[in-house]
Amino acid sequence: MILENIKQVQDKIAAACTRAGRNPEEVTLIAVSKTKPAGDISEALQSGILDYGENKVQELSEKYDILPKNIRWHMIGHLQRNKVKYLVGKVTLIHSVDSERLAQQIEKEFAKKDQTANVLIEVNMAMEASKFGITAEETEKLVRAIAVYPHIRIQGLMTIAPYTDNPESNRLFFRNMKKLSVDISSKNIDNVNMDVLSMGMTGDYQVAIEEGATMVRVGTGIFGARNYKI
Ligand SMILES: *Cc1c(COP(=O)(O)O)cnc(C)c1O
Repeated sequence: MILENIKQVQDKIAAACTRAGRNPEEVTLIAVSKTKPAGDISEALQSGILDYGENKVQELSEKYDILPKNIRWHMIGHLQRNKVKYLVGKVTLIHSVDSERLAQQIEKEFAKKDQTANVLIEVNMAMEASKFGITAEETEKLVRAIAVYPHIRIQGLMTIAPYTDNPESNRLFFRNMKKLSVDISSKNIDNVNMDVLSMGMTGDYQVAIEEGATMVRVGTGIFGARNYKI
């Protein structure tokens, strides 16, 4: 089932790329494995997918310990400062940096181990009160503030669009994310690049790709519905 789902998602990614005149190699599929057992990831690995997303540090660490070391782990959930230390040496990309205080902690913990953290700045493009992330207006300022940290490399932006049954209703948010990314990129800030645009989930990843996403984070569409009661 998981392998069939992955095939379907990959086909839809390819179709969205065709519609947008993009090369599918520009889009990385992150399989969001949060709440799912390691066995599901072992199965998904047979597809060749190596990028997995988790939203809790402890769960990411536990899976890191028991699964193959060539997996690229993405921290996509809200990150508490006291948990940053557990990510050093394990995480490929932190998608959810939304404050200078968090960046300071990342700098401190990664510097201790002489490592560099790759991060995205999380933007709350839809300005939802329930979501983390900073506003579009604050983004350049935060990028400039974090760019000076020697053990952090900003690789782009991330957003979580509103939950919706109609993906078209998120198109404008994705378009505005792409604009923001191009705008910041044009400022040529030292130590910053805007190569990554992480946006789109099961409900709206095809629209996100049409609007320029380079990473899509798909959970339900690959692993099925999550059960939060367990
Ligand atoms: C859970 C989660 C996803 C995946 O959501 P689905 O709708 O299951 O595809 C993507 N991004 C973030 C930040 C998440 O927390």
